[in-house]
Amino acid sequence: MTTPVYQNFINGQFLANQSGETFALKNPATDEVIYHVEVADGFIQNAAIKSAKQGFVIWSAMTPIERSRILLKAVTLLRARNDELAKIEVLDTGKPWQEAECVDVQTGADVIEYFAGLAPAQVGQQQMAGEDFYYTRKEPLGICAGIGAWNYPLQIACWKSGPALAAGNALIFKPSEETPLSAIKLAEIFTEAGLPAGVFNVVQGAAAVGQWLTQSPDIEKISFTGEVGTGKKVVASAASSLKAVTMELGGKSPLLVFDDADVSQAVSAAMLGNFYTQGEICTNCTRIYVHKNVYQQFIDELKTRTEQNIIPGDPLDPKVNFGALISKNHQDLVMRYIEIGIAEGATLLTGGKALNPASAPNGYFVAPTVFIDCSDDMTIVKEEIFGPVMSVLVFDDEDDVIRRANDTHVGLAAGVFTQDIKRAHRVIHQLQAGICWINSYGNSPAEMPVGGYKQSGIGRENGIETLDHYTQTKSIYVGMSNIESPF
Ligand code: NDP
Repeated sequence: MTTPVYQNFINGQFLANQSGETFALKNPATDEVIYHVEVADGFIQNAAIKSAKQGFVIWSAMTPIERSRILLKAVTLLRARNDELAKIEVLDTGKPWQEAECVDVQTGADVIEYFAGLAPAQVGQQQMAGEDFYYTRKEPLGICAGIGAWNYPLQIACWKSGPALAAGNALIFKPSEETPLSAIKLAEIFTEAGLPAGVFNVVQGAAAVGQWLTQSPDIEKISFTGEVGTGKKVVASAASSLKAVTMELGGKSPLLVFDDADVSQAVSAAMLGNFYTQGEICTNCTRIYVHKNVYQQFIDELKTRTEQNIIPGDPLDPKVNFGALISKNHQDLVMRYIEIGIAEGATLLTGGKALNPASAPNGYFVAPTVFIDCSDDMTIVKEEIFGPVMSVLVFDDEDDVIRRANDTHVGLAAGVFTQDIKRAHRVIHQLQAGICWINSYGNSPAEMPVGGYKQSGIGRENGIETLDHYTQTKSIYVGMSNIESPF
């Protein structure tokens, strides 16, 4: 059976490359090739820049409300095609349909809708200076680039294109090589909604195509989502032309469960923050610190619910709530971390093995895994695994657990469970993380800025401030009086 071949999306349409180079895309739940994609060669790259320049001239000259109208039409189309798009995400990522059907497209559409609404509200300032005065304009940057990770491909494409386009920029987006299709569908939807050609181009390929974007002198800003190590390379490369950067990187986030917490709620948060999207979420609370007084109750309930309530299998089955990891390589990597955890002395409470569910026997599954008897210096407690592997640690002192929670080079997210309102705020204010939850975990509405402290990132996505990251301020001084000059 022949599989489809997708081309790059440039200047409002598909464009064939000249090298003929393609890559294959496998469904992680079946290990079968489902389609091929053409790599963005030099010809495509030049065309992407040329059309983005032309698109930018048209798009940036439109009024914000005209731009807003087009983006809102795209939002309507995204929502109308929810199921078609969600299915693409399931086949590309291996995540369960029951998640993609209600989260991936919706949260992407929400963010475009939010920035479409904000665009006409962005204003400059005016200030008198004697008889003279000055005013400021918020102007777009020009051509921006987005580089995405593979865990929420469409959502990431929406979170980058929403603010970039609302502010009047053109965007060239490179999805991960593991999940290339939904960005093309977004490009088709933007085009159908009336976006001028070239304003949103999609280029395909692996690291080399990403590197080209970071080096291109025609690109003003890079918004990147991916690993800390890759982020450092991107920042270094972007520095050669002093591009602005937004970096959404990895984490090793702590969840603190105090002895007055609602333990069942805390277990729900811990499971959501480690097993949702089979553990492939950047903000996951992979270090769970539990007060010694509720430790036994916590791990007993955690073990029971993990073993009884998680249903791995064919991700398209609506009853399945636990999918396959993105690739065989990633499955092997996660299994290696589990072996290291055992070798370094952690105890397996549950899981710890690869799975071959009857409905998806060839998929790259790893069982939901919980380690107890963990210590802060263990590799599994220090490094991001990006799979369904939770480490549980014990504490008995508030100041000490805050110190331990902060003892890491990353700071993406953090959570606290306690019924004591004063303690909740006192503790969360001391945690070095950009995205925090009290008696909750993982929710992230479009209005809420998200991004990391320390090496987890630079800048923010979502929320009002993000629009500023996609504009530059022009100050204009207007002389109304005669110039006083000594010359
Ligand atoms: P990677 O860092 O491996 O890749 C991210 C993107 O960068 C991919 O499109 C990749 O291409 C591309 N890329 C790779 N090398 C370079 C380079 N030298 N220059 C430019 N681009 C490059 O991350 P993953 O895709 O593996 O995603 C998982 C990571 O993403 C985790 O660390 C996770 O925590 C983080 N993440 C962070 C989020 C946040 O908001 N903070 C959200 C989601 C994920 P290709 O894959 O095609 O090779």
